[in-house]
Amino acid sequence: MSRSVRNLRVVVLPPDFDYTWVAIIDQRPAGKRRRAQEFEDPMARRRKVYEGKAKILFEGPEPGTLVQYFKDDATAFNNEKHGIITGKGVLNNRISEYVMVRLGEVGIPNHFVRRLNIREQLIREVEIIPVEVVVRNIAAGSLSKRLGLSEGSPLPRSIVEFYYKSDDLGDPIVSEEHITAFGWATPPEIDDMMSLALRVNDVLYGLFAGVGIRLVDFKVEFGRLYESESVRTVLADEISPDSCRLWDIKSNEKLDKDRFRRDLGGVAEAYQEVARRLGILPDAGPRDMKGPAVMQ
Ligand code: C5P
Repeated sequence: MSRSVRNLRVVVLPPDFDYTWVAIIDQRPAGKRRRAQEFEDPMARRRKVYEGKAKILFEGPEPGTLVQYFKDDATAFNNEKHGIITGKGVLNNRISEYVMVRLGEVGIPNHFVRRLNIREQLIREVEIIPVEVVVRNIAAGSLSKRLGLSEGSPLPRSIVEFYYKSDDLGDPIVSEEHITAFGWATPPEIDDMMSLALRVNDVLYGLFAGVGIRLVDFKVEFGRLYESESVRTVLADEISPDSCRLWDIKSNEKLDKDRFRRDLGGVAEAYQEVARRLGILPDAGPRDMKGPAVMQ
């Protein structure tokens, strides 16, 4: 539905509307359009709370909420390598939503509220615990390097590791002793993170195996959710091919950010393939992707 007010066409937008397109329906002459920057620029509409490498957090519509915006930017090796993967943000928004909803269904508390549009989701505001939790099922990446294990060799059991979140230090691996001694998290919070991360692993290992994908390893982050008198440890951030190693079960083809880190090409196609297998690639394909043809 739309109607015209002076030179402006007013349109009722669907809930998943991508505000990048607002400029396109603005019919005023160029000079007047420039004065309406606030209206046209989705980033100018609200207060930015935090900008990371792949996401931006904005103030949410109600207290205790934030809007998480997924960018196409990709970084690796502690910011040394930077690139743009066209459409990545659209896919990660959708994949992370899908995963968080599945985890919520089995009682794993997380920050996700609902998807707002193709690049944004509403989340609950949490205080991020400055510890990255990595769960590994198969040797790869930094574990292979550190312990001289060949990539792809199975581990005797799933292994949980902690890394201190610090760009300046390159996210060093740390022990529980470091975490408690420096006050980054309390012993009960470490127990929560450990048990929640292993539950996430159980659920996701099965979920991905069901669509022919091996969950090699992944990284998760947790936050403190303050609710009236109590504090809960909940899963936060995102779970996507940016934060997981996902290999095709039959061919071992990499379907994750290692394609970008190792210059293997076909990065956007790999992310699309994960979304396609999970059955969540939108029918029309991600609307603002200029990349290769989307598989339906
Ligand atoms: O590099 P490393 O082998 O330690 O990574 C383990 C897992 O954690 C990989 O799935 C990787 O994508 C993820 N990770 C991440 N963010 C980081 C470090 C690792 O998502 N800062």
